[in-house]
Amino acid sequence: MICHHIRRTLLAAFTCLSFLSAVAQNNGSAFRIVPLGVKGGIDESNLSAYMIAPQGSDNYICLDAGTLHYGIEKAVKNKVFNVPVEQVLRQYIKGYLISHSHLDHLAGLIINSPDDTAKTIYAFADCIETFKTRYFTWKSWANFADEGEVPQLKKYHYQVLTPSVETLLANTEMTVQAFPLSHSNLTSTAFLVKHNDSYVLYLGDTGPDEIEKSDNLARLWQAIAPLIKAKELKAIMIEVSFPDEQPDKTLFGHLTPKWLIKEMHALESMAGPLSNFELIITHVKPPQASIERIKRQLEAENDLHLHLLFPQQGKAINL
Ligand SMILES: [Zn+2]
Ligand SMILES: [Zn+2]
Repeated sequence: MICHHIRRTLLAAFTCLSFLSAVAQNNGSAFRIVPLGVKGGIDESNLSAYMIAPQGSDNYICLDAGTLHYGIEKAVKNKVFNVPVEQVLRQYIKGYLISHSHLDHLAGLIINSPDDTAKTIYAFADCIETFKTRYFTWKSWANFADEGEVPQLKKYHYQVLTPSVETLLANTEMTVQAFPLSHSNLTSTAFLVKHNDSYVLYLGDTGPDEIEKSDNLARLWQAIAPLIKAKELKAIMIEVSFPDEQPDKTLFGHLTPKWLIKEMHALESMAGPLSNFELIITHVKPPQASIERIKRQLEAENDLHLHLLFPQQGKAINL
């Protein structure tokens, strides 16, 4: 009898604790991010793609779309989603923000298009043009979009983003502001996603200003510095493709740990102290030994005490 009573009390305490920890986990957290792919190349089952939604909402937007199906499958296996894979693709993802037209950022979108539902693709004009003339064409695939070669299957609607202009993300509770980034011969994009008074900044591929002979990152840091000061920016998702051993002349518009920390110092000079600020490291390029090296170098060089997070495919991040 006593034993039974203790068991019941323990069970109640445990239930209460797990409820509290679930609350604590989401307490004050504004966004949920589900990485569908986290690497910057080679492994076609794990290329840049991150679902993001306000906490508690199933209305996601996908930041880049290198890998979709395999990443969703992993997330479903991890019980991040309690619905079938098809439903996540078809109903939870409401649209795509594509940073630039390199295949590792959009191959999943093309390949999954036959099974997908009607939604919007948001990008800068140059990137949309490449979709129209290179990918959603009848020689590369089929034209699932509402512009470009005929016949048009009209499943996807292209929406061209204007730099710095806040744009509603259809069927979600979020808006986006896009900023240009310099990525070797291409213009890439940083997306500032907003829900209420909370923000997340996602950067597509980018090189450092100094190497790219650009001021795009400086301008971006200037634009977001007030949001950091106001504690409204929850995280920056930024690439580090190579370890420090990569020579500057073969960065191909990418960052190394050394260059990222240098850029973070530029940000700190405008935004104030960044200690414990959440920095999510994306686009790490295989082989695995090189990825491990990137992690070690970042941790060693992190004199600003940023909170570094290395996302894992199919594992949710609450911000
Ligand atoms: Zn890339
Ligand atoms: Zn690229």
